[in-house]
Amino acid sequence: MAVQTETSNKFLNYINGEWVASNTNEVLTNTNPANTDDVVGQVQKSSRDDLEQAVAAAKSAKKEWNNLAGAARGQYLFKAADILESRIEDIAECMTREMGKTFPEAKGETARGVAILRYYAGEGMRKVGDVIPSTDSDALMFTTRAPLGVVGVVTPWNFPVAIPIWKTAPALIYGNTVVLKPASEAAVTCAKIFECFAEAGIPAGVVNMVTGPGSVIGQGLAEHPDVNGITFTGSNTVGKQIGQAALARGAKYQLEMGGKNPVIVANDADIDLAVEATISGGLRSTGQKCTATSRVIVQSDVYDKFKEKLVAKVKEISVGNGLNDGIWMGPSASESQLNTVLSYIEKGKEEGTLLCGGDRLSGEEHNKGYFVEPTVFEDIKSEASIAQEEIFGPVLALMKVDTVEAALELANDVEYGLSASIFTTNIQKMLSFINEMDAGLVRINAESAGVELQAPFGGMKQSSSHSREQGEAAKEFFTSIKTVFVK
Ligand code: NAP
Repeated sequence: MAVQTETSNKFLNYINGEWVASNTNEVLTNTNPANTDDVVGQVQKSSRDDLEQAVAAAKSAKKEWNNLAGAARGQYLFKAADILESRIEDIAECMTREMGKTFPEAKGETARGVAILRYYAGEGMRKVGDVIPSTDSDALMFTTRAPLGVVGVVTPWNFPVAIPIWKTAPALIYGNTVVLKPASEAAVTCAKIFECFAEAGIPAGVVNMVTGPGSVIGQGLAEHPDVNGITFTGSNTVGKQIGQAALARGAKYQLEMGGKNPVIVANDADIDLAVEATISGGLRSTGQKCTATSRVIVQSDVYDKFKEKLVAKVKEISVGNGLNDGIWMGPSASESQLNTVLSYIEKGKEEGTLLCGGDRLSGEEHNKGYFVEPTVFEDIKSEASIAQEEIFGPVLALMKVDTVEAALELANDVEYGLSASIFTTNIQKMLSFINEMDAGLVRINAESAGVELQAPFGGMKQSSSHSREQGEAAKEFFTSIKTVFVK
């Protein structure tokens, strides 16, 4: 597919059912990280005044929206899903151009957005509470659920369709109204989802989007007295600020943050499977997944065999513009992301031994983008910065251990606890891993990245505020339980 150089992707804010310009008259312009000559689009650089209007719209829409039957709210989500489905190619192309993910991955993510909308549309007809036997035989006691009210949604750039939808869809189906602030670096792609919401006829004020700097709009949502709950995905630094601002005014918050996800390869593992899964889990999306594998802990008997196969396969990875056929890995999503990755690669060269990669890619195919070689290090100690800190890039650190017990100790020796995998054919090792691994997602003979949309998603330790997204689990954040007693 050819790279486009012109665009009509100019978006206003979506507030109270209208596309409106910011009162700042300023825009943010996004370019393609694979080719910085390619202008992808523009969004509004909004102010707190714009945010004020969006929150006011969401506040005035919430009563009527919550008074609809869940099934009626679901009909809007079904319509939005159908519209999104009809635009998968266009939205995926925009995503690839805006943040660099390959086109097949971007199509997969957009299709997942459709599936999430349909899942939550159906949720509008499922049960919301339980009948609890009262000790008083004349009484009826049961639970029901109330929405929070206005929910602020702050999202990152790495899944610019799936994450906004997996937060907005449950918020809406459970009767909340939404003000969403997308990541600036992927805001054009997110605006295209709002076109689907608008065309689905979702009533004015129920879903609103305000684009602009995180420190203005994101922080503004966290601090706003009329925002009853805030759900955030992104870095730990920002997540903690949002959590503190919400806590200070007693608002509910949900934070999904970083990961430093390990894979353990045991002596009895299927080595080819472990190699494939380590590459897919660690390097797909240029390592820019919160669940990406970054530490690979291998038992000594199979270490050399695993290393040899892994490095040979990593060297075969084709890196380039994700819109082009045959490309397996795209660029880092931005210049700052590229610089972060390159600085960790330099640290890795001091902290361990470089096995492959280790440089920015140059040459005709790469010199207009933020391309970095997929990189593998070995001889990495647990205390090394590349074994402890989230890199968010295509960098793998190999560590050798004698026993699975030692592997588990290393695997847990980080402040994060999002996802973890083990490759083994031994049931005892699987059980030890399930019991002892401090991670919200524990995966056996499967890569660390990727969880089905109907299953709970979230982390332990510093990866999360310990609530869960996705599936039925999302209900816990987006609603409060009411216990009803009728006499
Ligand atoms: P980020 O810098 O924390 O940004 C996330 C969102 O917060 C963006 O919308 C950003 O807006 C906004 N923001 C920035 N500063 C803010 C502030 N002071 N107050 C309020 N909001 C603010 O994260 P990112 O670089 O987009 O995403 C990468 C991170 O997300 C990684 O750490 C990754 O692990 C994490 N992540 C976690 C999960 C998970 O489910 N656990 C999933 C995906 C990603 P601007 O874009 O305008 O700065």
